[in-house]
This record gives sequence, C-alpha cells and structure tokens, in this order.
Amino acid sequence: MSASGLEVRCPAKVNLSLRVGTRRPDGYHEIRTVFQAVDLWDSLRARPSERLTLVCDDPGVPSGPENLVLRAAEALRRAAGRAAGGAALRLRKRIPVAGGMGGGSSDAAGALVLLNRLWGLGLVGADLESLAAEIGSDVPFFLHGGVALGEGRGERLTDLPYPGDRLLLLGVPPFGVSTREAYDAFDRDLTRSSDDGSFPRSRSGNPPEENDFRVGPNDLEAGVVARRPELLEFREELGRSGAAAALLSGSGSTVFGVFDDSRALREAVACLGSRFARWRVFGSRTVACGVRFGGNDGAD
Ligand code: ATP
Repeated sequence: MSASGLEVRCPAKVNLSLRVGTRRPDGYHEIRTVFQAVDLWDSLRARPSERLTLVCDDPGVPSGPENLVLRAAEALRRAAGRAAGGAALRLRKRIPVAGGMGGGSSDAAGALVLLNRLWGLGLVGADLESLAAEIGSDVPFFLHGGVALGEGRGERLTDLPYPGDRLLLLGVPPFGVSTREAYDAFDRDLTRSSDDGSFPRSRSGNPPEENDFRVGPNDLEAGVVARRPELLEFREELGRSGAAAALLSGSGSTVFGVFDDSRALREAVACLGSRFARWRVFGSRTVACGVRFGGNDGAD
C-alpha cells in the first residue's frame, strides 16, 4: 500500500437500451437493460483509520451516511463483523450527479472492492455481488463492467461479449433528473395509455449478439423529454451532427451519441458545445472493465 493508501477507479455507465415493465409489489419496476461501462471515472481512496470517515470534493454530493460509499462500507462492516475496521475515505467525483450514469452506484461498488482489500476480509465475487444488490440495483454491474444485460431490478446480470471500444459523445445538461422522477413520469404516462407495460415477449430470450451494438429503445425517455424539451433538442441535434445513434441514458439527464469516427466526434463536440453553452459536452468511449485498482493520475 502506498503512503496515500489504496485507490479504486469507478467508471460511469450508459444504458444502451432500457425496457421497463410494470411496478412490482416491492415498489421496483421489472426492467431489462443493457449496461455499458464508459471511460469517465470517479476515484476513491482509503487509508486505515480508527474511524470511518468520508471527504468528497463535490459539495453537491452528501458526505454523510446517505452517501452510497458509506452505505456500502456499513454493509460490508455488518457482513464482516469484527474483522472490519475504520477507514479515511476520499471521493473525487467526475461522473455527473443525477446524470443517469450510475456514479453513486459505481462508487458503492468501488467501496466494497476497496474496503474488502483494506480490511483483508477475503470476500469473493458472489459475497460482494449480494452485498452490492442490497445497496442498489445498479451496483452489481460495476463489479463486472464491460457490457451486460441487467434483469429484475437490473441486479440480475448476464455478461455480454464486449464488441470493442466505441466512441461516444456525452451531453450533460445543467440539471439532473432523479430516478424517482423518471419512473413516476413513466407510470403516469402508462396510466393514460392503452399499453399494459409488459415487455415485448419476443425479445425476452434474445440479448444482443456478438459485435451487435444496438442502441435504444429507452422506455423512460419519452416521459423525461416531454418534461424537459431541451433534452429532445440535444438528442435531435446529435442525429444531425453525424451520430449513428443517440439516446437518453437511463433516467437521464445525460444524453449520449455513438460515433463511428473520431473526427466526426470532435466536430460534433465543438458544434453542440457552442450551441448548448450551459451543457458539459465531451467525447468519451466505452470500456471493457468495471471498478479497478490503481490509476493514480496525480490529481488530488
Ligand atoms: P442511476 O443512473 O444509478 O439511477 P444517477 O447516475 O442518475 O443514478 P447518482 O449520481 O448516482 O445518480 O446519484 C443520485 C443521488 O444519490 C444524488 O442526488 C445524491 O444525492 C445521492 N448520492 C449518494 N451517494 C452518492 C455518490 N457517491 N455520488 C453521487 N451521488 C450520490
């Protein structure tokens, strides 16, 4: 362990597709989604300490017990009993908050992996996965990363073959969308329509095949963009700027586009960045991994 302790890097994700079923008795919706890890990272460091503490560089993120990092640490402590100790944790946020890119969930997965090692607990994959699913529906995905089909609440995963790196444009508006808000809009719109919210059954046993980088649909998109028209304008402008496909990620607010070549991506970043001046618009790519150790880039 270096003087600054142990560090994990926690990637963002986009949902390449998201089908939403009806609300279950436990309040969750049954979903079927394809998660894809993205080259945009939070970082989490830990040093041994008597107490469990967290410092976060983003004032918009709670650093108390409601932070998913501390919720993960407490879940791990409960599972490990006396073997677990304290830790001084430092979280550096780069993934947009409430952006539909799973930042909090990825940080939670990072905390499980990091503290499992710091505390020498020796928990294996299946142990961490069941703790991850307790913390949040998207958390197990980040232990795997790459590309995976998520079913149930999104926590039941099937790894899919990684089709190689794809170029992405990420557009983050100056507002977030809470997951709750997006599902409530979906439920309200469903009540007004004749759709019964059931999945198209023909697709149920039919996950994407190798090298298949299908994008869409996202069943939450219509409800979210109807209430935030700027998201739809951005998505349409992405189509006109050469994106092969564009979609709202998860519950939003991030909109992403897929590009086939880096020059077209650069031009689109410049064009959309000036037209949507209050947005963060930047290029990124898909990655084949999930949470991983190391990656000290000197920034602190
Ligand atoms: P998802 O796509 O998984 O539904 P999201 O990416 O839209 O989630 P997050 O940024 O993960 O949203 O977090 C949503 C809320 O969770 C925030 O508003 C924040 O108050 C809370 N939160 C708790 N822990 C964290 C964390 N480590 N990072 C970011 N937000 C956190």
